[in-house]
Amino acid sequence: MIKKAVVFIMDGLGDRPIKEFDNKTPLEYAHTPNFDKLVKESQCGLMYTLGRGKRPGSDTAHLSIFGYPIDKYYTGRGPIEAAGVGIELQEGDVAFRGNFGTVDENLHVIDRRAGRIKDVTIFASALDGMEIDGIKFIIKPGSAYRAGVVMRGKGLSSNITSADSHVEGDVVHEIVPLDNSQEAIFTASVLNKFMKKSYEILDNLEENKTREKNGELKANFLLLRGAGVYPNLPKFTDKWGFNKACCIAGGGLYKGVGAFLGMDLINVPGANAQVDTNIEGKFIAAVEALKTYDFVFLHIKPTDSLAEDGNYNGKKDFIEKIDKYVSILNEVDDETLIVITADHSTACELKAHSADPVPILFHAKGIRNDNLSKFGERECAKGSLGIIEGKDVMPNILNIMGKLPLIGA
Ligand code: ZN
Repeated sequence: MIKKAVVFIMDGLGDRPIKEFDNKTPLEYAHTPNFDKLVKESQCGLMYTLGRGKRPGSDTAHLSIFGYPIDKYYTGRGPIEAAGVGIELQEGDVAFRGNFGTVDENLHVIDRRAGRIKDVTIFASALDGMEIDGIKFIIKPGSAYRAGVVMRGKGLSSNITSADSHVEGDVVHEIVPLDNSQEAIFTASVLNKFMKKSYEILDNLEENKTREKNGELKANFLLLRGAGVYPNLPKFTDKWGFNKACCIAGGGLYKGVGAFLGMDLINVPGANAQVDTNIEGKFIAAVEALKTYDFVFLHIKPTDSLAEDGNYNGKKDFIEKIDKYVSILNEVDDETLIVITADHSTACELKAHSADPVPILFHAKGIRNDNLSKFGERECAKGSLGIIEGKDVMPNILNIMGKLPLIGA
């Protein structure tokens, strides 16, 4: 009887044939004896995370895999990022992703990341708790120059423009409503006041005077984007009937996905979403977590970042590095289902996400395995699951666990 599941997502794992790899993809070309052992004992297929012809973002892809339809639950990246930095969101909150950047006295953006400042705790605290026109601002530091920002109060809307044009040298944009609703007009007005006030506070902060003296860029502006309303959404464990779920991830967005769905976050030292991330530690933590959790979401990021740089050798090498440690998952007991997949393809050739489907495997004792020989895009295409979508993953997990409701008599 399968009682627990671990879903391991390698970001942007899928790819396209590379000429230098004998027209194999980085995953197909990589030497992966441990993945190949798993795939032999698994039921496999390909997955269009959002459906055919839809190019997934990482946030929307993860929500789909975990069974949260994006048309109902995705309003922007802000609420997910805010959840990831530990802000407890309430229904109706409007949340943003924030960057502490540098502007001059005319509000021209000099650097969107304030010289890639490493810690913005002091700057976030200086703004946290500010109130404007009855709206409270909650601001918590994220990794490096990032922050999670939440507006809380009555009559808010996320249907507004962004202040961040993403172009350095540009003047900070005034935020304007995108519809004629009172809520959008009010939200834009409050935000414009917030930007002005927060610039005054930050620019005069002692810490920034010191930075200026040391020849460093001031962190004197909080650039906001990715506005979204926090929806009323069911907790992952309630929705799918698990007792306890956790998330093991290095990147802020993925911790955010876990927190957004009400999963516990397990921090692993050295897990940082970079190529030197602690892969071994993450697998050990996942196996350990399965002793107390019946659902574990494990995420590794750099397969995506390397492909976005067009670095197919780096992507192949990194897949081989993951393979070295994936054998740690062999230590799980017979009651555990292992699902291995990606949130989307990231094609080295395009240096971008693509809509190409990704390989997926379901490994559990007693499963109807396909006896495939290699974990790869075209090999998994031969699997008996055929072509599925992200929304099929959770029902398939429940089926393997014997938890699906009966339809009919
Ligand atoms: Zn992704």
